Amino acid sequence: MSLFRGAMRVHLDGHKDLTEHKDVISINPSKVAIPLFAGAQMNPEILVQVGDEVKVGTKLAQFNGNFIVPIYSSVSGTVEAIEDRMHQSLKKIKHVVIASDLQYEEANSPTINYETATKEELVDFMMNSGLIGCGGAGFPTYVKYKFAKDVDKLIINAVECEPYITADIKLIEAEFDTILTGIKAMHKMSEAKEVLIAIKESHPETIKLVEEAIKDEKDIKVVKVPDVYPMGWERTLVYQVTKKRYDRLPSEVGVIVDNSTTCYWFAKAMINGEPIMNRMLTVSGDGVKEPCNVIAPIGSSVKEVVAACGGYTSEDMIVCMGGPMMGGTITTDLVSVDRQNNAITCIEKKPVEEIACLRCGSCSDNCPSGLQPVRIAQANKLRDMDRLGKLEVLKCVECGMCTYVCPSKIAVTENVRRAKRAYNLAQAKKK
Ligand code: SF4
Ligand code: SF4
Repeated sequence: MSLFRGAMRVHLDGHKDLTEHKDVISINPSKVAIPLFAGAQMNPEILVQVGDEVKVGTKLAQFNGNFIVPIYSSVSGTVEAIEDRMHQSLKKIKHVVIASDLQYEEANSPTINYETATKEELVDFMMNSGLIGCGGAGFPTYVKYKFAKDVDKLIINAVECEPYITADIKLIEAEFDTILTGIKAMHKMSEAKEVLIAIKESHPETIKLVEEAIKDEKDIKVVKVPDVYPMGWERTLVYQVTKKRYDRLPSEVGVIVDNSTTCYWFAKAMINGEPIMNRMLTVSGDGVKEPCNVIAPIGSSVKEVVAACGGYTSEDMIVCMGGPMMGGTITTDLVSVDRQNNAITCIEKKPVEEIACLRCGSCSDNCPSGLQPVRIAQANKLRDMDRLGKLEVLKCVECGMCTYVCPSKIAVTENVRRAKRAYNLAQAKKK
């Protein structure tokens, strides 16, 4: 552990008012390009060919590596191409391009009744449904439940602490009954003693709605958390709720964390046999003309989604998949919306005048992982990989906090990100 353990939280200007009271809109693109992406796993088994007719829920591909990750069609129509395209991970990967017939005809996918199914049947069903974490991480959800043991708390993360993003809260307001079905099934699978739905105290209306809906559920409660960043980050949230820290996974302290939108899509799979076929995305920032929440089929291009919000305010733009703190910048808006996305943030480029480091320590004091970004950057400059290891560079979650607090306007996060990459590369070469 680092010598310094940061304050871990800062109140940020949320800018949520740009979208939180606006109606949600939907788009129906005539073509989607569905990324065959499963984190670090490569080489999907592709199960369709050009010319095949597909429906919503037709299995397009499956990853069979460390984890099983099937990928399904989000539209009905005809497979037009299977080709390499740029993905938001900034790698070229295979995409299945489908010309949509705009009918959204559904394949006859299996459903399951969580009340009568066993835990093992539910885990298998979750794995085959292709459910991944919808909060941004995109990790296959079934893995948490397959190996669940001695779980004390299941925490449903509805914190949404990043600036601009309102999609989770909008979905809770519109679909909490469905989300609750997912929560109950996950409760059964985890065998947790209690379920805590974490919502920021700055959302009294949402808290009221959820508390009313769960008033007869004796093991499910709302836990109100402070409106600070990065409260929604798993480590911060687990500490806030349990006052316990863990090394690698929340299961070490008897906790499973899942995002509220993940619960929604699990319920949709159980009730209707629907895979994650679309995502509600908060499209916001000073770089978009009419910020709002948009429901877009998986495989829609970012360009089409932003166009539905009136387009960009200028040509010089930073576009992030996700929020401005943790989201990854994309280099072209032709990339596809993927299953783990919850937002597209467009920020106008402004000249930033960087000055020398003041040694103020603010980046260390505010790092939720307790890191020392300045020392990490120095070690990377010297290519001192042993030192980077000692400074625990891999613990950086790229939350953006160090850049946000830096009075010298230094791109501190980017420096740490580079150091992480260099360290990973050096470790891979050793093998
Ligand atoms: S980006 Fe990394 S180093 Fe910077 S505050 Fe976040 S976790 Fe710490
Ligand atoms: S916050 Fe900025 S100025 Fe302060 S120590 Fe970190 S890098 Fe230097």
